[in-house]
Amino acid sequence: MSEQKKLVKPVTPGDRLGVIEEFTPGKGTYVNDGVVYAKVTGYALVSRENRRIEVIQKTKIPVFPVKGQKVVGKVQQVQDKFAIVKIFKVNGFELKNPFTAVLHVSFISKFFTKTVYDALKPGDLIHAQIIGDKNLPCQLTTAGKDFGVLEAYCSICGEPLILSKKQLVCPKCKNVEKRKISEFYGKEV
Ligand SMILES: [Zn+2]
Repeated sequence: MSEQKKLVKPVTPGDRLGVIEEFTPGKGTYVNDGVVYAKVTGYALVSRENRRIEVIQKTKIPVFPVKGQKVVGKVQQVQDKFAIVKIFKVNGFELKNPFTAVLHVSFISKFFTKTVYDALKPGDLIHAQIIGDKNLPCQLTTAGKDFGVLEAYCSICGEPLILSKKQLVCPKCKNVEKRKISEFYGKEV
């Protein structure tokens, strides 16, 4: 994907994208009375060169991380100072091709986190936000109560952990584990 294209927003059919004085209608759009609308569900993209606006269908969303997007991913690897996360959902849309992102220890929480081992484990499902898209892999943050772990598993027996009084407890072996928990723990985001 060219640098000149910018992902604008998720759209559904009939969403108003702009007027023809402003944009050239492209694929996945239609024009009615001088207004450009989305024809399909997906992401609106604008080309900076020619102001062409098109809608990329949600099943065909390209790998295109942009700062500010809310993402869901699976923790692949944890080290002392960072975690590697595979992102498969962006702003509620499932990606055809997941991409890899990095979460540095200093962006885990608003509070001091000494090591990533205190906040995440491989296999955890997390809700995060993209804060850096200039270099790849892009940078994530889980600071803020919306963000953090959505789903985690017991490191002893593998059972999904249950949130009980702000703690993650294994219903099977009663093991208690520490994570940076999202307020959406156990829910779909
Ligand atoms: Zn257990």
